[in-house]
Amino acid sequence: MHKPFKKPIYITRPLLPSLDKYKKLLEQVWDSQWITNNGPKHKKLEKKLRNYLKVPSLSLFNNGTTALITAIQSLKLTGEIITTPFTFPATPHAINWNHLIPVFADIKKNDFTIDPRSIEKHINKKTSAILAVHVFGQPCDVYAIENIAKCYKLKIIYDAAHAFGTEINGIPIGQFGDISMFSFHATKLFNTAEGGALAFNDLRLKKIIELTKNFGIKNEEEVLLPGLNGKMNELQSSLGLLNLEEINEEKSKRQNIYNTYITELKNVTGVSLSELDTKNKNSLQYFVLRINKEKFGISRDDVYRKFKKYNIYTRKYFYPLCSEYNCYKNLPSADKKNLPVANQVVKEILTMPFYGSLKDEEVTKICFILKSFKK
Ligand SMILES: *Cc1c(COP(=O)(O)O)cnc(C)c1O
Repeated sequence: MHKPFKKPIYITRPLLPSLDKYKKLLEQVWDSQWITNNGPKHKKLEKKLRNYLKVPSLSLFNNGTTALITAIQSLKLTGEIITTPFTFPATPHAINWNHLIPVFADIKKNDFTIDPRSIEKHINKKTSAILAVHVFGQPCDVYAIENIAKCYKLKIIYDAAHAFGTEINGIPIGQFGDISMFSFHATKLFNTAEGGALAFNDLRLKKIIELTKNFGIKNEEEVLLPGLNGKMNELQSSLGLLNLEEINEEKSKRQNIYNTYITELKNVTGVSLSELDTKNKNSLQYFVLRINKEKFGISRDDVYRKFKKYNIYTRKYFYPLCSEYNCYKNLPSADKKNLPVANQVVKEILTMPFYGSLKDEEVTKICFILKSFKK
């Protein structure tokens, strides 16, 4: 029997710069008396992120959810949008806030991203777009999705909240689709406490996105459309500028933790791992396991409960499926029969502690404890 951890171990800890460095930037903000509305820190961060993510254009937001709502508005979508039930609530909610209908397609069992074959089954005259999620930083089947979109004249939005820095064969993830949304929430790899961005290839979209995120205000005399307040402020932008300097080091620490998990767990029957696809550069946002009850001896729910006794707090991301929420469960596409893979995966998935300051011996201990649960 292993001893429980003295301090609780959570699945993530926010990346934070040194407080002294942050104070220096805040002094500049205080001196300038310019704390929001496209200030100098905001401008600088926008440019740096455009370079880091290697995208033609980018707009910053106060969080990823307003960014996603704005993306849907800006593309003037109508009717139905096909999406995945295996995601964070913000994905279907952003569709709902636009008074459009989310239609749930099933996911693929190898990487949990939306299944292009299932997308095609749900297309009808009302369909205007596909909102796909690079879940856990694994890229969607972007080329198959692109072909479907071309064939049926649909727009593509990617929820890339987990995919900061993901690449496919060297192509940055933000270059796919019409618009990609990134989230900079505290729990995400790169954070501004709360924050987000839209990345897009068509430079003409910049105007409507910027208008929409600022109440539709064109100038002192004219308001052009019913926008919202999606602006990122100077305090968030300053935090972002400093965290961006730390990001590569954080990623290399996470890569080591990732390798330790793989080494410790690769031969455990009943536990499957999300191996890095060699072609793709994974964002190292999450470390996710799949527990097969028959082969491992106990269920994912039991593993989750037992870990708590050791002061280890794993998460059942993304349980429950969005198609099971009260607000969506009566949609025809939410029927369990329509989503067999998602309904199976959601019972088996477990998100493990994963952040740069997690120590190697802590990872080893977590793995030993998991192995001791096996029956
Ligand atoms: C975090 C997250 C969001 C929402 O982003 P916020 O910045 O918290 O509003 C949307 N989609 C997914 C998949 C997420 O994980």
